[in-house]
Amino acid sequence: MTPPRAVILDLGNVLVFHDNALLFLRLGARAGLPPQEVAQRLTGAGWTAANRGLLDAEGIRREVCGALGVELPMAEFAPLWSSHFTVHEAVLPRVEGLVGRVTLVLLSNTNALHVAYLRPRLPLLQRFDAVLMSCEVGHVKPEPAFFQLALERAGCAPHEAAFFDDLPEYVEAANALGLRGHLFTDAPAFDAQLTALGL
Ligand SMILES: [Mg+2]
Repeated sequence: MTPPRAVILDLGNVLVFHDNALLFLRLGARAGLPPQEVAQRLTGAGWTAANRGLLDAEGIRREVCGALGVELPMAEFAPLWSSHFTVHEAVLPRVEGLVGRVTLVLLSNTNALHVAYLRPRLPLLQRFDAVLMSCEVGHVKPEPAFFQLALERAGCAPHEAAFFDDLPEYVEAANALGLRGHLFTDAPAFDAQLTALGL
C-alpha cells in the first residue's frame, strides 16, 4: 500500500495531554463541589456549544461559572480552565519529521480559551498545512463535514489520508468516510503505526 499523502492528527491526548479529572478536581475545589458533580454539570449543552464556536471566551466563562454556581473573573478562570494541559513532548519530534513529507492537518474538537492557551505552547502547529479547530470552523467530530473539510484542506481523497485520534468513536467515523483511521495510544505505538504506513 502506498504511504498516505496526508496525515490528519487530533490534538487532545495526541499532541497535548488533557487531564480532565484534574480539571474537574480544581474547578470543584474552587466551586465547593465534588469533581464528579463538576463533570456532570459541565457535560451539558455548553461544552458542545463551546466546541462549535457558539461561545467566545467570555461566553465560556459565563456558562461554566453559571453551571458551577461560582463567579470567577476571567483573570482567574482562563488559567484554571487550561490548567490540565501538558504538552506531549515525546510525540513532537515524530510529527515534526512529517513536515514537508506529507500534508499535515490538525483536526480538533476544542474551544476558544483552550485554543488561545495552546497555540503559543505548540509552535509546531505553525508548520502544519492546515489547523482546523472546531470552534473556529463550526464543525465538530464525528460529523462528516468536519472530516470532509480536512480532506479539502489536505487536497486529497479519503483513502490518501491517515487519521489519528485517541477516541475510537472518531476513528470509526473517519473509517466510515474512507479515511485510513488509526487509534492513537502513545508515542512508541504512533512511531510504529507511521512506519507501517511507510512514513
Ligand atoms: Mg483527543
